Amino acid sequence: DAAAFQAKQDALKDKVIAITGAGDGIGKVAALSCAAHGATVILLGRTIPKLEQVYDEIEAAGYPQAAIFPINLEGAVEKDYNDMADAIHSEFGRLDGLLHNAAQLGPQTPLSNYEIDVWLKLMQVNVNAGFLMTKALMPLLEKADNASVVFTSSSVGRKGRAYWGAYAVSKAAVENMVQVFADEMDGINNVRMNCINPGATRTQMRASAYPSENPATLKTPADIMPSYLYLLSDESVKLNGVSIDAQVKK
Ligand code: NDP
Repeated sequence: DAAAFQAKQDALKDKVIAITGAGDGIGKVAALSCAAHGATVILLGRTIPKLEQVYDEIEAAGYPQAAIFPINLEGAVEKDYNDMADAIHSEFGRLDGLLHNAAQLGPQTPLSNYEIDVWLKLMQVNVNAGFLMTKALMPLLEKADNASVVFTSSSVGRKGRAYWGAYAVSKAAVENMVQVFADEMDGINNVRMNCINPGATRTQMRASAYPSENPATLKTPADIMPSYLYLLSDESVKLNGVSIDAQVKK
């Protein structure tokens, strides 16, 4: 059971792990948690002061020194991802883990009213960026002994729900993209690819989606880290093409 995984202190020792949306919410806590378990973390995101804050926390805790690579997933094009790959290549020579965590929620409104430019933006950030980044970083992932790519799903990506709009559709696309990648790579290389569904978690995004909910009733990002550490560590080396829940079902 991934949610009950107890990671050893050195579970991610010597691993280089890139995390999108590492400045806030689940991504921030994942960055700190990976660093605490020995990883060198590459902090990817669009708001540099937030990334610097996480960088400083990692340094203050005495964890392996992090790196920052600013990127706005909304506007980034193929060249930006290739530049990112070049930078990671010259600094580290490989990539052991990639957590696609950043996403946008968008408005909660019927599809028939959904603004087209907002639709396109959400698909760009939530789906296309993950594809472009994974494609550009694949040669570096293949240089690692056992690389793990993790995409972030959602319950509404497994079963569509009224008013969840492009967010729900984008998460369904993510689930499918992981299956396609995983099926293609099975037995071909040492890169595995899986999905994680965080479940209701106390972040800004959750508060926007459920404004009347009391956040104190929710799991914190720290509570759901066991599943993230499981997927990013060699414990899950045989897992490929599946979608797991970070919280145990009640
Ligand atoms: P938050 O809104 O708290 O954090 C989202 C992160 O994504 C932020 O770091 C944000 O950066 C970043 N981001 C958004 N847009 C862009 C962009 N264009 N370029 C770069 N970075 C961007 O969300 P959560 O932590 O709650 O969500 C993390 C993941 O978990 C998401 O994929 C979400 O869909 C998923 N999820 C969350 C659930 C929950 O209950 N919280 C439930 C199910 C799934 P910035 O701070 O700079 O805006």
